[in-house]
Amino acid sequence: MADVPSDAPQHCPGTSSEQAGKTSSCQGCPNQNLCASGATKAPDPAIEEIAVKMLSVKHKILVLSGKGGVGKSTFSAHLAHALAGDSNKEVALLDVDICGPSIPRIMGVEGEQVHQSGSGWSPVYVEDNLAVMSIGFLLSSPDDAVIWRGPKKNGMIKQFLRDVDWGDLDYLVVDTPPGTSDEHLSIVQYLSSAHIDGAVIITTPQEVSLQDVRKEIRFCRKVKLPIIGVVENMSGFVCPKCKNTSEIFPSTTGGAERMCEEMNLTLLGRIPLDPRIGKSCDEGKSFLAEFPESPAALAYRSVVQSIQAYCLSEGTQGESAD
Ligand code: ADP
Repeated sequence: MADVPSDAPQHCPGTSSEQAGKTSSCQGCPNQNLCASGATKAPDPAIEEIAVKMLSVKHKILVLSGKGGVGKSTFSAHLAHALAGDSNKEVALLDVDICGPSIPRIMGVEGEQVHQSGSGWSPVYVEDNLAVMSIGFLLSSPDDAVIWRGPKKNGMIKQFLRDVDWGDLDYLVVDTPPGTSDEHLSIVQYLSSAHIDGAVIITTPQEVSLQDVRKEIRFCRKVKLPIIGVVENMSGFVCPKCKNTSEIFPSTTGGAERMCEEMNLTLLGRIPLDPRIGKSCDEGKSFLAEFPESPAALAYRSVVQSIQAYCLSEGTQGESAD
């Protein structure tokens, strides 16, 4: 076997095997700790397969948040809608929020089925140029609690990236679970040979949300995931009648703006609270199409323009991966 060193013990399982460093014959071998650490294992072949698959996807954007409930899925959905507003662009939204997949409902495709074809799983189309794939399509009921262990989650993410028939895409938007979990590591690892444009981080103005966002930022820097910028959601409330703005969730520590200054990041924009956003999402309609002139819709569009500009400049703005 090519990966058995010349000084290996008699029954060496091979440095790149699953058993490396773990069998009884490894006991006493000077390489045991190295092998057991996994550092000698061959990389998962899926990484290269995914890189080949992703050659037809121009831009890949991950949407992250430190906490749940800050509007990450809502933002992902509106980013996808806004990008697909240009009928010349092909857009897909992938929901890997395995424990709380809300994208099918927000996109108005709850209860749809994905089909298996010769070229992989076919995503569900919301518009001719807007495809959606979510773990939610694979559950028997939207209320099914998905309590999956790490390897199963990883397997599903691998399948989503490798086996979905995305076709040629301009943008793939990935809605990830809150926090930094196995799923984030999987996504970053599986896309490591396929360029990721970067991450957009969603927060509310409050320090409790910002605290977790700082952890998210450190995670991105550790795994060398470029950060496109930060979006402050639920940032003030513009009264639809008198147009006055009130701070429903006041920022005690300077909000996302101060954090971005401190951490040298771009603040992509602030999206105000608007109860009609929740209503549109519950009805599976695009808020951008329903209330195009509202302050929140204008804010979404401005943020999306900044993200497009970042992607088109190939990462010369914002934070670089190195
Ligand atoms: P997350 O993905 O971070 O868990 P969601 O996108 O599911 O959060 O949003 C949580 C709730 O907040 C949803 O009911 C959503 O409709 C609502 N929401 C999100 N952004 C806004 C906003 N700017 N104004 C009003 N409601 C919002």
